[in-house]
Amino acid sequence: SDHSLVYPSSPDSIDWSSHYPAFANQRPSFADIGCGFGGLLITLAPLFPDTLIIGLEIRVQVTQYVQDRITALRATADQYQNVSVIRANAMKFLPNFFHKASLTALFFLFPDPHFKTRKHKARIISPTLLAEYAYVLAPGGIVYTITDVEDLAQWMRAHLDAHPLFQFVEEQELREEGKGPILDAVYGSTEEGKKVERNAGQKWLACFRRIEVKRVN
Ligand code: SAM
Repeated sequence: SDHSLVYPSSPDSIDWSSHYPAFANQRPSFADIGCGFGGLLITLAPLFPDTLIIGLEIRVQVTQYVQDRITALRATADQYQNVSVIRANAMKFLPNFFHKASLTALFFLFPDPHFKTRKHKARIISPTLLAEYAYVLAPGGIVYTITDVEDLAQWMRAHLDAHPLFQFVEEQELREEGKGPILDAVYGSTEEGKKVERNAGQKWLACFRRIEVKRVN
């Protein structure tokens, strides 16, 4: 339950310097929605040392685990200053966390394991939430989705395809743009992704670019 959650009134009301003491006045540009135990965050942090990365996670203990993991890593290496986690329900008030067009990457890795039994409104990818994701993403920014649930893959693909501000982008095209390390992390860095591998499950990747609306003259 998220009844005890307190939401920021705006992105400026978040004390980002407590999350990233080494980066004054910088805001996150990668956000991992439902980051779980933080495998993606920890993998991306040293690959993008100048990019601030934030995980959003709804479970208290899991968030604490990720926080402790980052604290321990910061103590042993001069790295991981650029990664942090916030306990939040990402389905509520996302624009209170991130300014318009402030993100360049949004990750949904193995979300919604109980997808089938959930009502449409309760799903992490829905028409309403897509409007919020489009709002916080900068034009050119990428939404990365991956799942081992085929029905969910189809659902996410269909809804993102139908949205006027998102355009499907082939994995190969992203690799040619230099985003291979991100894609490799999306496939294999998270605890859930590793579990799927152990169980020899299939993974469906789908990425979308936040496009700019064309002006009609
Ligand atoms: N992305 C991670 C991975 O690949 O290992 C975790 C996947 S796990 C199946 C889904 C995660 O999303 C869980 O940790 C869950 O607590 C979190 N979650 C579910 N709904 C959420 C919400 N509305 N806001 C934030 N986190 C959420």
